[in-house]
Amino acid sequence: MLNAPFRVAPFFRTRPWGARDLSPWYDYKVSQSPDVEPIGEVWLTGDQCVVETGACAGMTLDQATRANAVDLLGAGHANGAQFPLLMKVLFPREKLSVQVHPDDVMAQKYGEPRGKTECWYALDAEEGAKVALGMKPGSTPETVASAIQSHTLEGMLDWLPVHKGDMFFVDAGTVHAIGPGSVLLETQQNSDATYRLYDYGRPRELHLDKSFEAMRMQTGAGRVPSTIDGDGAEILLASKYFRVERIRFFDGAARKRLDAVQMLFCAVGGLVIDGEGFAPVRLERGQLAVIPASCGNWRLQAEAGSEAIRAIAC
Ligand SMILES: [Zn+2]
Repeated sequence: MLNAPFRVAPFFRTRPWGARDLSPWYDYKVSQSPDVEPIGEVWLTGDQCVVETGACAGMTLDQATRANAVDLLGAGHANGAQFPLLMKVLFPREKLSVQVHPDDVMAQKYGEPRGKTECWYALDAEEGAKVALGMKPGSTPETVASAIQSHTLEGMLDWLPVHKGDMFFVDAGTVHAIGPGSVLLETQQNSDATYRLYDYGRPRELHLDKSFEAMRMQTGAGRVPSTIDGDGAEILLASKYFRVERIRFFDGAARKRLDAVQMLFCAVGGLVIDGEGFAPVRLERGQLAVIPASCGNWRLQAEAGSEAIRAIAC
């Protein structure tokens, strides 16, 4: 029975566009030597992330999910027994390549379990930080193709400034890129389906045929204002695949069971998840806990000024 919240250890992944110092988020520094790649992504719920506390401590999240699919994901979501959402912290210090993800239908046509819709919450942003979401009005597949040929696609993208606390929705089919200078909490469908459309003339491989098949000139992508629901929860984003909330007021109230797996990320301060029948789980800044679908009522205690991001798999 896996019904108690548990913490997952972050998994640090090198990327050429990443950072060499992850403070104040993580006590992790990379040598300045050009032979050593910086860290670009910190995976919080990757299949290979290791469970740190509770009954499955020492197992990977994938092993824990396969062994406890119904307890962890809920009876209505246990099909396939794969953890449904991938959450990461991104540390872009250079431009990321321009990419597009397929929707579920296209991904399944090519043998992938699901497509990839994602969102980015800005944990921090320097002056001038930006992201690109979709193409400027008037773009067509033909003008996109010729801009790729002439290495000018960057200018056709719709670049948006990023401020701390912004939420961006990136639905499948949206051509997108991330510029330097922000720290982003990414929540996405757990899928590898990514096609690189443009890399600013750098020599990495492109996937043009599939990019053009996946690409949509108009999508629902953009900056999303937060809303308050009837229970007073601050909803940063609600989509078909996930709902993301920000919690800044901690009244210690019991939170009821949902038939879905939830994630709780500590963005500021320190948190403790407690409830009947399980040992309290402590989270520091940058750490994440998984709350199984079968978990009973739980409460959140926090240091003053703390902020939590809660993601619920739909
Ligand atoms: Zn993406």
